[in-house]
Amino acid sequence: MARLHVPDRLLLGPGPSPVPDQVREAMAKPILGHMDPAFLAIVDDVQEKLRLVFGTQNRLTFPVSGTGSAGMEMSLVNFVEPGDTVVVVQQGIFGQRLADAAQRLGAHVAVISVPFGEICTTAQLEEVLDQHPDTRLVAVVKAETSTGVLQPLEGWSDAIHRRGALLLVDTVTALGGMPVDVDNQGFDVVFSGTQKCLAAPPGLAPMTVNERALARLQERREPVSSWYFDLPAIAQYLGKSRAYHHTAPISMMYALDRALSLIVEEGLDAVWDRHRRVAESLWAGLEAMGLQLMVPRAHRLSTVTTVRIPDGVDDRRVRQRLLEEHQIEIAGGLGPWAGKIWRIGVMGHGARLSNMMTLLVSLRTVLDAEGCHLPSGLSALEDTYRKVGQE
Ligand SMILES: *Cc1c(COP(=O)(O)O)cnc(C)c1O
Repeated sequence: MARLHVPDRLLLGPGPSPVPDQVREAMAKPILGHMDPAFLAIVDDVQEKLRLVFGTQNRLTFPVSGTGSAGMEMSLVNFVEPGDTVVVVQQGIFGQRLADAAQRLGAHVAVISVPFGEICTTAQLEEVLDQHPDTRLVAVVKAETSTGVLQPLEGWSDAIHRRGALLLVDTVTALGGMPVDVDNQGFDVVFSGTQKCLAAPPGLAPMTVNERALARLQERREPVSSWYFDLPAIAQYLGKSRAYHHTAPISMMYALDRALSLIVEEGLDAVWDRHRRVAESLWAGLEAMGLQLMVPRAHRLSTVTTVRIPDGVDDRRVRQRLLEEHQIEIAGGLGPWAGKIWRIGVMGHGARLSNMMTLLVSLRTVLDAEGCHLPSGLSALEDTYRKVGQE
C-alpha cells in the first residue's frame, strides 16, 4: 500500500506554524470517550490554561471544535441577531471576513474601512459609533495576519460599552505570541486558533466570553440559528451537567493541552519576549538586506512580518524555490497586496533565532539565483538579537 508522504517543512508562513514533537506525540495517545472523567479532567485543564494565556477569569473559556474561523462563527452567531447593527473594522482580509459573516447573519453592517497597512484610530471608531447609536456589537481583528498590523485597542472597550455595545476581538494571530489581556482590556467576546502562536495543529478555536456578553445571550429574541455553534448548549457540556452536545475532537484536545503546558512551563512573559526579540532581529536582518517592511514600526505586528518583494522578482518562483530547494514555507500577499509582498510568520515554536537565520540565508540564496543580488542580513540579525536580549 502507498505510504502517506509528508515532507519535512519549516513553516514560516502566517500559519500553520511548526508543532513541537511533544505536541505531536500527545496526539498519538489513545482515544478516550468525550464523557470519560479522565477526558473531562483534561478539558478542565485546558480551560484553566487558556484563561491564563488569554488573561481572563471568564468561566466560559474553552476551545471551540473547528479552526479559527469556527471561533469567528461561534462569536458572531451567538451575539448577532438579524437586524442588529454591527460595526466591523476592516483593515485587511480577516476584517472583511468578519463583515461578510455578520452580513450573512442578517446584521446591518457598518464597515470602518482602513487602507492595508494602517490602523483604525479611536477617533474613527467613535465617529462611526456616533453615526450608529443603535450599534449592538463592534468586531475587530487585533492582529491582522494579511497586513502585519497590530491594531491598538486601548480605550476601545470604554467607548463601546458606554454606548451599550459589545466588543468582539479576533486574536487568532495574537494569542500565545503577545499579551491579549482580555479582562484588563475589557474584551467581551474573544476567539483565536491553535495553529498560529500556540504551536499546535489547526483544529480548535480557543474562545472566551465574559458576563456582559452572557447577559446579552439571555436577551436573545430567537434561538441561536446554528445548531452546532449554540453556545448555551455547549456551555452545558462544559458545566456541571456535562450534557452531551457533540463529540469533542479528542486528539486535538491532547495537543492543545500539551502546547499550553509548554507555554506555561516556559513562562508567559518569556514566550512573549521571545516572539518580540526574534521578530525585531528578523526586521533588522531584512532591512540590512535592503528589503522594505510594509508596516511602520509603531504598529508593526511581531507575529507576522510583511515585506515588499523587490522590483523584477517573481513572487511565486521565489516561494516555490524556497519550498522545494530549502523546505521553507512563507506566504504571499492577499487582496491589494497579492504579488507585492511576502508574509513571514514569527509564531509559536517557529519564533526562534535559528529559523530566522535559516530563512535569511535561504532567501538570499534564492534571490541571488533569480538575479536579485542583496547584501547579507545575518550580522544585523545577530546584533539585534544580542541587543534586544540585553534590554
Ligand atoms: C488564520 C486566521 C483566521 C482563520 O483561522 P482558520 O484557522 O484559518 O480558520 C482568522 N483570523 C485571523 C486574524 C487569522 O490569522
